[in-house]
Amino acid sequence: MAISSVLGYPRIGAEREWKKALEAFWAGKLEEAEFHGRLQEIRLDHLRKQQAKGIDLIPVNEFSYYDHVLDTAAMFGLIPKRFAYKGGIVPLSVYYGMARGTKEATACEMTKWFNTNYHYIVPELDGAEPVITENKPLAAYREAKEKLGIEGKPVIVGPLTFLKLSKGFAPEETDAWLNRLLPLYIQVLQDLARESVKWVQLDEPVLVTKLSDADRGRLKTIYDEFSTAVPGLNIMLQTYFESVENYSEIIQLPVKGIGLDFVHGFSGNLQSVKEHGFPADKVLGAGIVDGRGIWKASLNEKLGLLEGLTQFVTDDRLIVQSSCSLLHVPVTVKNETKLITELKNALAFADEKLDEIVNLTKAVSSGKDAIADELAANERDLQALKESAERNRKDVQVTVAAISSQQPERHLPFSERHVVQQQKWQLPILPTTTIGSFPQSAEVRKARQLWRKGEWTEEQYESFIREQIDLWIKLQEDIGLDVLVHGEFERTDMVEFFGEKLAGFAFTQFGWVQSYGSRCVKPPIIFGDVAFEKAMTVEETKYAQSKTRRPVKGMLTGPITIMNWSFVRDDIPREQIAYQLAYALRQEVEALEQAGIGMIQVDEPAVREGLPLKEEEQAEYLAWAVKAFRMTTCTVQDTTQIHTHMCYCEFHDMIDSIEAMDADVISIETSRSHGELIHSFEQNTYKLGIGLGVYDIHSPRVPEVKEMTGMVDRALRVLDPKLFWINPDCGLKTRGKEETVESLRNMVEATRISREKY
Ligand code: GLN
Ligand code: ZN
Repeated sequence: MAISSVLGYPRIGAEREWKKALEAFWAGKLEEAEFHGRLQEIRLDHLRKQQAKGIDLIPVNEFSYYDHVLDTAAMFGLIPKRFAYKGGIVPLSVYYGMARGTKEATACEMTKWFNTNYHYIVPELDGAEPVITENKPLAAYREAKEKLGIEGKPVIVGPLTFLKLSKGFAPEETDAWLNRLLPLYIQVLQDLARESVKWVQLDEPVLVTKLSDADRGRLKTIYDEFSTAVPGLNIMLQTYFESVENYSEIIQLPVKGIGLDFVHGFSGNLQSVKEHGFPADKVLGAGIVDGRGIWKASLNEKLGLLEGLTQFVTDDRLIVQSSCSLLHVPVTVKNETKLITELKNALAFADEKLDEIVNLTKAVSSGKDAIADELAANERDLQALKESAERNRKDVQVTVAAISSQQPERHLPFSERHVVQQQKWQLPILPTTTIGSFPQSAEVRKARQLWRKGEWTEEQYESFIREQIDLWIKLQEDIGLDVLVHGEFERTDMVEFFGEKLAGFAFTQFGWVQSYGSRCVKPPIIFGDVAFEKAMTVEETKYAQSKTRRPVKGMLTGPITIMNWSFVRDDIPREQIAYQLAYALRQEVEALEQAGIGMIQVDEPAVREGLPLKEEEQAEYLAWAVKAFRMTTCTVQDTTQIHTHMCYCEFHDMIDSIEAMDADVISIETSRSHGELIHSFEQNTYKLGIGLGVYDIHSPRVPEVKEMTGMVDRALRVLDPKLFWINPDCGLKTRGKEETVESLRNMVEATRISREKY
């Protein structure tokens, strides 16, 4: 008999109770004891739900107070010295200090979790001797057992993945760190074995990336040592997000189970299993229900796949499971009341995926008839969406095919555009600007709520937005910025705002997923053909420009970011979706230009999010991503300055593509990776306008002038001052008004000092 499992369940709660609890605690509105109690309720509730649905092997310890990688670092006492940690159980003040920064210490770096939109806190191994501060997996296991009688499966970030995601040590120190960490891992696992834990899931997603020989050696050492030190413990070596590299080596490791992703790594993993078989002494964790997508699985297709797998592994050695943790999908479709039927019936979020997993497990053991009704309903639902009008807009399909067959090119090359743009705009050296949004104060959020609820008229809301624009245009002039923005007060979210105005999108009411910490996003669903309907940003931008003589940048979200931050249909290639978006946004760029806006920023913070994990597939993705950006921006006049912005990630290996986007100015988040990006420009002379963020906007801390002049000096050792811009790392919408004004004043002062040097 096959059994069912999942790799992790969303932490945030169906109504974001988790987020609300964290934020209440941070704001001092919740006592620590009460906070712990509330998180425990949420945690147990999630376990109960999986139990009730009939999941056999329920994960524990994937729940977190912020992030599971940070948890692992905290469990091993790997706290950077600047947080003045004194030993013992890591206090919440230190834990959250690492995540969010404190008055005295900058936060740890945060970066993307593989190719998802989840961000983890990067562990810093700065010399502190690792110790076990608390066996959290054991505590989670005990809790599930004592409170609910659940025989849980503790989930732990595996040692190789943990090491490879950490920083702060030289490559030649890797083995020394491994040797320090391994005994601690072993101790944690031994505690679990002593408690008679049946299965432990060790997450090693790095196994889907190319590993050096040294890392492959480390992998073997790690799992050899585990099998010697804790022979009785069943380890599920879990991979996800792609097919594994080195399959034949991995299946020889002395672990009880191997978890493979048969959704995102479908063809590669299947190929490996067919070619090399699957060892008779191991259990296969078959990840066949998409843990990242929101669409119902075709049960028929999945059953076909499972049946194929049973040629290589008997069903008593098969665990039917999600392809990855369900962390990446919203909690339930059940509470959605506003979606069209064809769409709603074709969706499966975390809870619905639990049903799919249970059904498939049943069918693989007892035959298709056991789920005959479910199979019929499933086919019907998927067919209805396929035939919907939204998926069959011939007008869009024809135009986009024609446009995307041409090479999108601006009229003049950058070197010549730069000259005419300088003539037109007369900007000082090291021009200053911001990334777009200004603080979304309680007042702004309140106003939007009133308007959404219909308690405010359209006019009331509009005039409120105008007041905000007035206020911030004045402030920006007063601070002395060179290129202004209108502040994005009318937008809750940079993707949702555009999605609501374009055809082909749908919005859930509760479809939130965690992005980082307590920050959740509610990705739109691109379920039909995308089309421009009417101008989306012209009114506010034009208004802002009418209030100042300095240039105001128009502010759009780019096609790739809209795509990568949405849940997208899976019946056409992503490339086609990107081109549909690009064509729609091009019409907005043109509308702005016609309204007299001569600087237009097309944000692409999420380009990297879509980068395939497999190196051999990356060039193709980047090529069409760049093309989509150029399709969006290529039709403007030479004097119109196209800006773009990117954040959250490492760009060192993408500089050529960034350059190929051919934006006149790019701003990039830099300060959180402590200037590491600057190194990558040493080998690469970037020849277009560029601003490397001079301060971190994720922290409430006001940066000092000299920190920022330091950043500028470092950057200008490798970049051309004539092309360099000064700006914060990202938009300021999450910050308070006072700290924002103060920070920007310091930034302008830092610019004044820097200008004297160049
Ligand atoms: N223009 C957006 C803002 O300032 C950019 C946000 C982002 O890059 N994530 O909010
Ligand atoms: Zn940004």
